[in-house]
Amino acid sequence: MRCSDSEGLPRADSKVKALEALLDVPAETILSLVVFSGSAVFKTRMPGNVTAGGGYVCYIESFREPVLNDFQVQEAMERIETGRLAPNRETHCQHVEQLKARFEPSAKRTCPECESDMVLHTVKRGANAGNRFWGCSAYPKCRQVEVDGCYINAKKLPS
Ligand SMILES: [Zn+2]
Repeated sequence: MRCSDSEGLPRADSKVKALEALLDVPAETILSLVVFSGSAVFKTRMPGNVTAGGGYVCYIESFREPVLNDFQVQEAMERIETGRLAPNRETHCQHVEQLKARFEPSAKRTCPECESDMVLHTVKRGANAGNRFWGCSAYPKCRQVEVDGCYINAKKLPS
């Protein structure tokens, strides 16, 4: 099993659906745009709607065709203002925790299968020697292993 490259990106589809429902406009008038702030540098080529820094301005300006009239725009803006969820500290923290668990290599984690603690292992031999991975502390009863943010049920631990 392999992580897909888009794994770490926000789930744009569900956001488009939510906006479509909230704004009552056709889905094709909503385009998703992912903007990384700060000094993000992409390691791989990204689609046009995934941008860093001010790149999103070019992307937005590439659309010239009006899809909503003034009234629809006004109405949509009001719906966003009134319908916007109050930023909830708890959901924000949960989100941050999830991201941390995924990207912080040393963040503590629990096994999704049996909820035991996961233990950080280092591969001792072979081509992958030195690589680190998380394995369930209940091994060999539970064989959950986390590699690159993906949980797999390993038949045997990497060695
Ligand atoms: Zn487990």
